[in-house]
Amino acid sequence: MTAPTPEQRLADVCARIETACAAAGRDPAELTLVAVGKGMAAHRVAEILALGVTDIGENKAQEAAGKAGEIASLRPDLTPRWHFIGQLQRNKARTVVEFASMVHSVDRPALVAALDRAAAQRVEPLDVLLQLDLDPEPDPTRGGVRPQDFLALADAASAVEHLSVRGVMTVAPQGADSRRCFERLVGFSQSLQAICPLATVISAGMSGDLEAAISVGATHVRVGTALFGTRKLASEGPT
Ligand SMILES: *Cc1c(COP(=O)(O)O)cnc(C)c1O
Repeated sequence: MTAPTPEQRLADVCARIETACAAAGRDPAELTLVAVGKGMAAHRVAEILALGVTDIGENKAQEAAGKAGEIASLRPDLTPRWHFIGQLQRNKARTVVEFASMVHSVDRPALVAALDRAAAQRVEPLDVLLQLDLDPEPDPTRGGVRPQDFLALADAASAVEHLSVRGVMTVAPQGADSRRCFERLVGFSQSLQAICPLATVISAGMSGDLEAAISVGATHVRVGTALFGTRKLASEGPT
């Protein structure tokens, strides 16, 4: 069997998004497809960009910075928006701020402070999402703020000068009912919008559960495997 081409994979993902939007009575134009290029070489990411994808997600600061630079010199005509979606150490904030348009994984006040300091060099504030950990069994290696600490984090992030709080993000816990998890995320989105009216982004849904995310109102889906094929294990999970 021959592997599907990038065109076929992208067409399949777009068809899934359109079907899910139709079922939910939503306009596909409300959805941003973030192609998750982690573990993929720059030329593979460039290939998907050349097909019309505009947004790329990466989960490791160094890998992402290198790839953003490579693609900028390989294909200066492509001007993707880079999304940082992985766990972020404070000492990598400066690296991420240099290439990212949006950081989806803000999950603690110390990271808010580090990103705010790093973003001071930018012309525009850095768009950030607050990542929630909705697993009943917390796992500190996965990232995300616990629900009881969410409002304090929202206050901290909305108080700083160089960050713009744009919404919420989560990864459905393995084996969980994704739809129920995303419904809870929408609840947090509503409480956040009471403090930050511009925080309308809901980043939820991956290759396996993008339909569930779209059905409850996701604005950004983060899709890796369905667009690029299976990754080598080394690039999986937080490090
Ligand atoms: C890897 C990753 C994705 C994409 O997952 P797929 O199942 O490959 O689509 C989305 N979000 C985050 C935070 C990730 O780390």
